[in-house]
Amino acid sequence: MSGTPQQGREALIVGGGLAGAALGILLARQGRATQILEQRAAPQHQVCGEFLSREAVEYLEQLGLQLRALGAVAIHAVRLHARTAIAACELPFPAMSLTRRTLDEALLLLAAREGAAISRGRRVDGLMRSEDGWRAALQDGATVTAPTAFLATGKHDLAGHRRPPGRQNNLVAFKMYFRLLEEQQRALSGWVELFLFPGGYAGLQMVESGMANLCLLVERSRLESCRKDWPTLLGHLWRSSTALAERLNGAKPLLAKPLAISSIPYGMLPSSALDGLWRLGDQAAVIPSFSGDGMSIALHSAHLAAEIYLHGGTAVEYAKRLRREVRPAVSLATMFSRLMVRAPALAQVVRLWPGVLAHCASYTRVPERALLTEALRLRHRRA
Ligand SMILES: Cc1cc2nc3c(=O)[nH]c(=O)nc-3n(C[C@H](O)[C@H](O)[C@H](O)COP(=O)(O)OP(=O)(O)OC[C@H]3O[C@@H](n4cnc5c(N)ncnc54)[C@H](O)[C@@H]3O)c2cc1C
Repeated sequence: MSGTPQQGREALIVGGGLAGAALGILLARQGRATQILEQRAAPQHQVCGEFLSREAVEYLEQLGLQLRALGAVAIHAVRLHARTAIAACELPFPAMSLTRRTLDEALLLLAAREGAAISRGRRVDGLMRSEDGWRAALQDGATVTAPTAFLATGKHDLAGHRRPPGRQNNLVAFKMYFRLLEEQQRALSGWVELFLFPGGYAGLQMVESGMANLCLLVERSRLESCRKDWPTLLGHLWRSSTALAERLNGAKPLLAKPLAISSIPYGMLPSSALDGLWRLGDQAAVIPSFSGDGMSIALHSAHLAAEIYLHGGTAVEYAKRLRREVRPAVSLATMFSRLMVRAPALAQVVRLWPGVLAHCASYTRVPERALLTEALRLRHRRA
């Protein structure tokens, strides 16, 4: 799988995360010569809440992944803790959780089995227009050319292809796995929990192998007041949310240090693609974490790009349609995300109307009518 990049393949996909690997599978299945260049040499953990909405689950199962067999756990309900207020409700759809390390690896292996050429440990430093398409310049000095290029580098921008800023740019993300005590695990099992604290919010849920994923977003200014120090930040969280302190008190951190990422352009929407480059996943649109489901947008963008490309359409048509389909969810989720950082206002709303949680979860997803899944077609046929 970590082969030498192959020249002259029809489609070059830069980035083998969710969007890139999914597109690789779809193109290879149609017999298109596809090359994926992925910077990571081996599976790694990623900063992600790892909550898979129904749309993401349907797209992944349609691609051929057996999520249960990979260890995914079911999530059926959501609980929001805001200061002393607690709101809880069943999710309006079945959901799952699975570590990205497991999920991304399974997708890349499937892409390879379908016939895509995968080169791992190959970082692309530049992607330029050439006479007959695109030329990728790799960090190791090699170049790869192809008539069509798909940019799927997720959270990482390529020089010359930087994304514009979003509408909420001041958040820093952290993630840590914990081994919970037995009673903590029982209380969390089947739930995704959100905790609001001054300057940010956190999500906690079980993933496979009995691990709990704590993923959080904090305003840069708040992080600075915590001296950019993880134990100090955790202390701030615990003082602000007794519920979170209860959930994690005595739990064992499983990573030597938390994973972190900054400069996330939340609220960014697809641009016009006039340069002919197909942008997928987080390179196309960035929906705030926890209030929207970025993974289903990434998978949807891959399916939409494959459908339009295989029918001879252009990157411009694709970008326009993706923008139309995801814009309402991205805008609404960005509004919710801003509200969540201002915890006191939201606490009042959830106290008065706990069902608001289910509504938020419904309206911040890829709209059902836009989905390209067989399960949706079946639901419509039955209706
Ligand atoms: C804090 C946080 C929590 C989140 N929680 C959730 C959640 O619970 N549920 C949800 O649905 N979404 C969540 N998301 C969003 C989700 O993680 C993203 O939307 C999704 O990963 C986007 O997929 P992608 O394929 O575009 O990018 P990625 O998954 O980031 O994949 C990009 C790939 O490209 C590779 N790459 C990058 N640069 C290069 C390069 N120069 N050369 C070669 N390869 C390169 C990377 O190694 C990576 O494998 C969260 C995001 C954040 C930040």
